[in-house]
Amino acid sequence: ADMKIITVIGSGLIGRSWAMLFVSGGYNVKIYDNQPGQSARAIFLSLRKQLVELEEAHMLRGELSAAQQLALLSSYDDLSQALDGAFFVQECVFEQLEVKQSIFHDMERFVGKDVILSSSTSCLVPSKVFSKVQNRSRCLVSHPVNPPYYVKLVELVPHPETAAAVMDTTHALMTKVGQAPVLLKKEIDGFALNRVQAAIIAESWRLVQDGVISVKDIDLVMSEGLGMRYAFIGPMETMHLNAPKGLEDYMSRYSENITRVLSSFGPVQLFLLSRPQEMCELIPCDQQHLSARQERRDQFLMRLAKLKKD
Ligand code: NAD
Repeated sequence: ADMKIITVIGSGLIGRSWAMLFVSGGYNVKIYDNQPGQSARAIFLSLRKQLVELEEAHMLRGELSAAQQLALLSSYDDLSQALDGAFFVQECVFEQLEVKQSIFHDMERFVGKDVILSSSTSCLVPSKVFSKVQNRSRCLVSHPVNPPYYVKLVELVPHPETAAAVMDTTHALMTKVGQAPVLLKKEIDGFALNRVQAAIIAESWRLVQDGVISVKDIDLVMSEGLGMRYAFIGPMETMHLNAPKGLEDYMSRYSENITRVLSSFGPVQLFLLSRPQEMCELIPCDQQHLSARQERRDQFLMRLAKLKKD
């Protein structure tokens, strides 16, 4: 395997994002998709344009020009050719267990034992994704957050058999391309990000459902309140800084209150809202309005990424 070659499997939204990140770090990226012509279209219709636009906006990552990064990309309709020479494979196919299991099974025939096999799965645990792989010590999940070019977190989640060296190499690779990797020490449903997100969704939903607050205002609780801190410091540091002597001091002052509030959390009934139309009144549910707000979100994320870099 050549330590400069990475293969990306699947050329949808996330496959294209990984390809852009890896070329920004100077890697040769071979893109494979099982839809003939799809990976070539990804490069020439989507990635080429994005790289040029990022360069013009002075937001292109890495040391190389857009033209140099584009030259590192190649497309394949043949799996064995796509995998030839790679030291690292990032899988980005549909989020369906059988599809992932079968592509990893197929891949294993074409790669050496030391080649790292990494999955982008959001919701499937490694022990399921890799159950049809023989040599599982080289397998892990590297879960990105959308859009990965601006939101740098990557959750690295091991299979019970994953070798420590595989976690280390992947951590170093992600750091090298400018992402922010975190290590989970064992697999768990939802990993870390989606578990924390589920807790936030559940409590927000409950407060709206119970008639405590409007949809508009619970979103402001995050965007104008908690979220202001959380783009820079997490919940642990937030507590540590909020008491004169740090985290333990914080807990001795506030744990009683937190425990009392926590004991009022029960299961939450998702899908039942008293005024389900409220969100669509704020932002109409048609493609035009939703796209405009998605564009606005990504613009904000881009500016926040810039701010964090400074
Ligand atoms: P997508 O539907 O945009 O792209 C999937 C691509 O995989 C398509 O181009 C399809 O042709 C190709 N494909 C399907 N089966 C294949 C196979 N057997 N071999 C080769 N190519 C195949 O999906 P996406 O949004 O890019 O998601 C890809 C993965 O990334 C999923 O596991 C998803 O959960 C994960 N992920 C997505 C997001 C997100 O926000 N979209 C965030 C984090 C992780």
